[in-house]
Amino acid sequence: MMETDQHTNPVISKWLNKRPLIISGPCSAETREQLLETAIQLAGTGMVDVIRAGIWKPRTHPGNFEGIGTKGLPWLQEVKKITGLAVTVEVARAKHIEDALNFEVDILWIGARSTVNPATVQEVASALRGVNIPVLIKNPMNPDIELWIGALERIAGAGIKNIGLVHRGFSTFGNTEYRNTPMWHIAIEMKRRNPELMMICDPTHISGRREIIQSVAQKAIDLNFDGLMIESHIDPDKALTDGRQQLTPLALEKLLQSITWRKEKSGQQPYDTILEQLRDQVDLIDDELFNLLSRRMKISEQIGEYKKQNEITILQKNRWNEILEKRKQIGKTLGLSCTFIDKYLTAIHMESINHQNKVMNS
Ligand code: PEP
Ligand code: MN
Repeated sequence: MMETDQHTNPVISKWLNKRPLIISGPCSAETREQLLETAIQLAGTGMVDVIRAGIWKPRTHPGNFEGIGTKGLPWLQEVKKITGLAVTVEVARAKHIEDALNFEVDILWIGARSTVNPATVQEVASALRGVNIPVLIKNPMNPDIELWIGALERIAGAGIKNIGLVHRGFSTFGNTEYRNTPMWHIAIEMKRRNPELMMICDPTHISGRREIIQSVAQKAIDLNFDGLMIESHIDPDKALTDGRQQLTPLALEKLLQSITWRKEKSGQQPYDTILEQLRDQVDLIDDELFNLLSRRMKISEQIGEYKKQNEITILQKNRWNEILEKRKQIGKTLGLSCTFIDKYLTAIHMESINHQNKVMNS
């Protein structure tokens, strides 16, 4: 569990315990008026817990707006004072941390372009030694869970007690539906390995365009994420960074109202019991499936033995095509999708070949 007792600041202890935690604010702080107006409107929704703002922006191309810099930190201090909400900024350098702490920033976050680079993460971690501040770690740009874990190890190793994770998707080459493909399984695996850490979703950077943010956010909540980080700007079309994916505070409020918030348990006895019974049934069926798969592999080994004695190749193309076609037909009538049948049979086939291979080369 996250430690709460070390924080006397009520804003921070509220942050640690609130579920779902909602973080919102502009991609970048641009002017004092833009930041304050956005933050005040967001606070007015009553649904936002933490105000974010990029102060130093690591940009892909040189010459783009690289953030207002330290000059924007007093604006965040004003935001804190006026709204009573906690504030968070992205840090990538020791100097960023020093400045952020001087201006009473409550939470730091490490961006995807930093998590991907162990040298940067180490610089941040070293600067954090002896500091008591919560840190959020975004996933790295590329789908490498080890880089994410490495960053976590470095930050935890620096003595940071309150660490959260942020899933913001992974970059790919070429156009896809998303700016950054979610690859939900990586976030789920990260959560499985670190169940004590909060996992927040950033549907803004996954989506890259405001039209699909709601559906990504809903999916994250359906998957039991602990909160959302969504960018908001009073005038998104005039934003200096990430204009296509920012929402006005009003649009953000509507989006949050449209989400079906789910919890892990219904808290009502009969429903949770029904769920448990259904899960027991699923477990029993999985037991059966595993026993059947094991039996199937033993038969494959016998086939391997036969092929070995008769000097027949393991793979016979026609036989495999026959199996695929036949099973796809049967699968359809049983309500199983072709994609699933394909993946399932390919996995079984590979395992079966491995078993036969072992027998034939023993
Ligand atoms: C951001 O939050 O504005 C940002 C740059 O995010 P990421 O590090 O996920 O790209
Ligand atoms: Mn952004």
